[in-house]
Amino acid sequence: MGGEKLLENTSKDTEGLVLLGEFGKEDLATLYVAYLRGKKDHVVEFVESVQPPIPREKKWVNLISTLFGCPVGCAMCDAGGTYRGPLTAEEILSQILFMVDRHYPRRAVPVEKYKIQFARMGEPSFNDAVLDVLERLPEVLDAPGLIPSISTIAPAGREAFFERLLAIKNRLYAGGRFQMQFSIHTTDDELRNQIIPIKKWGFEDIGKYGERFYREGDRKITLNFSPAPEWPVSTGVLREHFNPDVFLIKLTPLNPTEKVINAGMKSLIDPANPAKYADLVRSLERAGYDVIVSIGALEENQIGSNCGQYATLFGSNNRLCIREKYSTMRYLRYTSAEIGRSWTPGTENQHEKT
Ligand code: SF4
Repeated sequence: MGGEKLLENTSKDTEGLVLLGEFGKEDLATLYVAYLRGKKDHVVEFVESVQPPIPREKKWVNLISTLFGCPVGCAMCDAGGTYRGPLTAEEILSQILFMVDRHYPRRAVPVEKYKIQFARMGEPSFNDAVLDVLERLPEVLDAPGLIPSISTIAPAGREAFFERLLAIKNRLYAGGRFQMQFSIHTTDDELRNQIIPIKKWGFEDIGKYGERFYREGDRKITLNFSPAPEWPVSTGVLREHFNPDVFLIKLTPLNPTEKVINAGMKSLIDPANPAKYADLVRSLERAGYDVIVSIGALEENQIGSNCGQYATLFGSNNRLCIREKYSTMRYLRYTSAEIGRSWTPGTENQHEKT
């Protein structure tokens, strides 16, 4: 391993993926927009990012889409809404290989921490092909630092997916090479149902699954919260269901998605005002949890590459455009000639509202 095994790069792997646009900064985050199946209503976005000043060889993150749209429709997420079905394993892999080929055409990825997060568009547990990809990744890439990450809202009825996932983790990614994350956002059940408006596992189910999922040497399971100030996060409820030896808490800002802006939602995790969330961090730590406050580069919000953001949509006359509230166009690096006709670079005022 470690770059010795040279894997064959065949253009066939990514040929179904047609790049429409590329936005961002090489030394921070790049957002790719592409379509699959030769259909412009089968658009996907995927992202690669680094964390300055850490070089890519130390840490590199890929975020990929697993569904065309998402049927869940979380309150803060622009990827929800229109749903056109799951991607195939090849289509999911093609996003990864597209980004790998740009930097490591021999598909040997010498990155110490190479995270692949199935988290751009789509709840990953709605697509069994995600599991097929997890099984194939170690054959397709020579990437000793690979750490796949599943971030889920734990939909009800997807138990078979989670059972197979557990077995795959133990078989291929034991010893801390897998990151399991549950997006919770609040410990108030009623509010959680409003924020994530589908039937899903209760805290007890997640807690029990986590106890079975976690083995010594694994990474602790992450409970994700992107809370607004009025969303309760009760240490009492957490301690009742989530063992701090198995679960940790990650707090992230509620990013400025179109939904967040339109609803006037505010973020408790405010990078400009740590005092706002200091009490919460203290109380979680006192309850025994490891707490990660994860605040990325704010410029990622402008690029549109952050969690919950989804930059493109179809305008009223079926023209693909960038959301009006995003400044993604300022970071334009490439658009295909095809999209250039309907999506003129630099003329943000031509973008349509839906
Ligand atoms: S946060 Fe995830 S599950 Fe919720 S709408 Fe967005 S993509 Fe779907």
